[in-house]
Formats: sequence, C-alpha cells, structure tokens
Amino acid sequence: MTQTPSPARRRMLKAVCTIPLAALLAYCPATFATPPDQGARPVISIAIHGGAGVISRASMTPESEAAYRADLGRALDAGYAVLEGGGSSLDAVDAAVRILEDSPMFNAGRGAVFNSEGINELDAAVMDGKTHKAGAVAGVRHVQNPVGLARLVMEKSPHVLLSGQGAEDFALENGVPLVPRSWFWTEKRWKQLEAAKRGDRLSAADIGYYGTVGAVALDREGNLAAATSTGGMTNKRWGRIGDSPLIGAGTYADNGSCAVSATGSGEYFIRTVAAHEISALMRLGGRGVREAAHEVVHGRLKELGGDGGVIVVDGKGGIAMEFNSEGMFRGARSSTGLREIAIY
Ligand code: ASP
Repeated sequence: MTQTPSPARRRMLKAVCTIPLAALLAYCPATFATPPDQGARPVISIAIHGGAGVISRASMTPESEAAYRADLGRALDAGYAVLEGGGSSLDAVDAAVRILEDSPMFNAGRGAVFNSEGINELDAAVMDGKTHKAGAVAGVRHVQNPVGLARLVMEKSPHVLLSGQGAEDFALENGVPLVPRSWFWTEKRWKQLEAAKRGDRLSAADIGYYGTVGAVALDREGNLAAATSTGGMTNKRWGRIGDSPLIGAGTYADNGSCAVSATGSGEYFIRTVAAHEISALMRLGGRGVREAAHEVVHGRLKELGGDGGVIVVDGKGGIAMEFNSEGMFRGARSSTGLREIAIY
C-alpha cells in the first residue's frame, strides 16, 4: 500500500529536487566525481614470453612448473613496476628481459643453448616504437645481458646490428664488462646438445631444441617498445643467426600499430618477416591486434611449416599472445586489472 507523503515531507522533497545539480555534485564528490587514477589515466600494458615449443603437461613436474611460473612472474612484475612508476616502455621491456636472461630456465643469457662447438652464442634486439630506432647484437659469447648491449647499440652507435667480436669490442668500449663462458654453462643445455649430436629426438621434458625470451610494452605516454633475447637453436652451426635480432622478423615496434616479440623456428619467422607482417596487417589492413597475430601465426607461418608464437601489444594496451606450438611460456599484465601467467 502506498502512503501519501505528509505536507512537511512534500516540502522537503521539493526542496531537494530543486537543488542545482552542481551543488549536489559539490556536496557528494565521492559519489559523483570520477575517482582519481581510475579511468582518467592512460592504460599501461606489458606482455612477456619465455619461449614456445613442445611443452606438454605430462613432461612438467609441479615443481618445475612452479619454478617457470615464478620467474615469469618476477619478470612480468618488474616490467610492470617500471610502467606503473611512470617509466618508459623501453625501460620496462629491458627490465623484464634482463630477469629472464639471468634465469637459467630460459634459452637466453644464462640458460642459453649450446651451438655445435659447445659454445653459447647469443642474439638480442630492442626497438623503440616512437622513434623507430632499433639496436641488435648477434653471436656474442661473453655478454651477460645481450638485451642491454642491443639497447646500447641503438642509443650509442650509428648502426642497428653488430655481430660477434665487433659487438663485444663495442661492449667494452661502452663499459659493459664481459663474463667468462662458464657463466652460461648449465647441465640441462649440455645434455640437450649431447642428445642433439646423437640424433636423439628430445623428450618433451627438454622443451624442444629452442626457446627465447621477450617483452612488449605500452607506457603512459602511449609509446610502444619490444625486446627479444635468445641463445638460438641447440647444435646450430656456421654462425647461424635466427629471427630474434632481425628487426621486422622476431622483433618490431611502431607506435602506429603495435610492438611484437616472437619465438619459434626462426628461419620461418625470417621468411615471413612475421613481426612486421603483424604490424602491417594492423597499420595498412585495419586488423585488430588479436586478428593480426592470429592471421600470421596460424596462417602464413603455419602454412610454410613454421612453429612458435608471438606476443603483441597495441597502442591502446590490447594484448595478443598467439602460438601454434603445444605451449608458450607467457605472461601479461595491464592497468585494466589483468595479470595472467600461462604455459599451455
Ligand atoms: N626464434 C629463435 C631462433 O630461431 C629461437 C626460439 O625462439 O625458440 O633463434
């Protein structure tokens, strides 16, 4: 049953209804105003990967899976912390990749695979989506963090890609200490080399012959950046270089489209110029980030026989993590509340 309001209550309701809206907003700011830091700040995003390949659940113990997830989480959060503190996307991808390079679990830096001579040869690249500047190194043997050297090539040299001895001379000239080759020796990788030389098919537990690490990020200024670092492929010969340090193949960033870092059978990523292809599909073909990544990874790359995956972030903070292999170590975090770490 509805009650008719008393005359006094009617007067009060009328008074409230005639209060100007601005006065009400001023009186109840917590209720009506957009809270600071929510919705008003530009989105920040980061995605990382720790390599793609044959990664089956059966091959992974709970302990090894927890260890992979822990290192991925540390790298992801370190990169995100840079962005959250107002740092650049370049600093964020650099910070994330360094952590993965220093982990013995991934095929980059410390955990790099061996070439056929039993030596670790490392490749890395970075690209700045704002300036389109890029730096890369290939075949370095004594550099703890190749991603940092790639960045120095970008910032302190007139070149894009330095290789081998020359890259290490450049490192010394720029104050980067070299480390002994023993820094990169791990039993797991040595056994993989022995198995490869015997011609054994690696068990799923060996996570295939390759792997790589990478990061892509969008900062508060709207700038994109990408970084990739790898030991390449187990038992590689003749100074083989993969897609990771090749701008456009395994690494690419353009504020007008996206930032990409790839992992997988490098020769195919080179032949499809995969990272740039994703960017071009977005910039020239009007595709969204997920559509473009899917089209390349499950289309052109797969059709040629290439396997692996990519992480991609666009200028609005949208993230794609696509792979056509059994798994890809990966993680993503953004200011929209997303935080995800996944393997399969
Ligand atoms: N793409 C890397 C290379 O071919 C390896 C990998 O990502 O697994 O050197």
